Amino acid sequence: RDPVTEKAKETIIIMRDITERKMMEKQLEKLALTDELMEIGNRRAFDQELDREWKRTLRHGSQISLLLLDLDHFKSFNDLYGHQVGDDCLRTIAFAVRRAVRAADLPARYGGEEIAVILPETESTDACEVAERVRLEIENLQITHEGNAEGGYRVTASVGVATALARCGGTMRMPESLILATDNALYRAKREGRNRIEKMLLVAPHEG
Ligand code: GH3
Ligand code: MG
Ligand code: MG
Repeated sequence: RDPVTEKAKETIIIMRDITERKMMEKQLEKLALTDELMEIGNRRAFDQELDREWKRTLRHGSQISLLLLDLDHFKSFNDLYGHQVGDDCLRTIAFAVRRAVRAADLPARYGGEEIAVILPETESTDACEVAERVRLEIENLQITHEGNAEGGYRVTASVGVATALARCGGTMRMPESLILATDNALYRAKREGRNRIEKMLLVAPHEG
């Protein structure tokens, strides 16, 4: 400042480029939501996305579907070929699932060899179509699995599908009930002979 007039004579501007830091933050966030082996969302990503998509479904008064797939007799696949080959297989399967679903669908690793796919704005018939495409894509990989007689000695998956209507929110805990219904459908697919899809429709008593 000018010692007499107190007016600023010089201005110092400090600028720092934080592009790199922001990019790093984004990368870290992505890492925290991705499953390293399958290169799809992890369980945390799934929980976040399902919550968000269910809220959106409520706002729109629309429908949402969920797929849950579990590989058939995969324990014995590991026993026969080793854990490393098992890992490679899981990577290939996840890639096939990504190929089979639509652009707006959200696949994530749900558990060990289980993959969930959130299908926003999707009714039951369309959801079953996607599920069947996923099942077939996996079968068509023709990965040998001598412990899977039910699946023609190839790696196969069973898929549970469930669809919920937004107005079903009334007396049910959502989206937990949707997960439960999908899980029940998957259990039925296993019981009915595996390498197949089974569906459930969530119809809850409507309040008011
Ligand atoms: P089912 O047809 O009833 O599903 O039989 P299953 O043997 O597949 O039974 P389950 O789904 O309970 O077993 C899952 C197996 O998947 C257990 C474990 O050995 C294997 N698994 C889970 N996560 C991984 C993984 O990250 N890598 C490998 N290689 N195997 C895994
Ligand atoms: Mg399993
Ligand atoms: Mg299994």
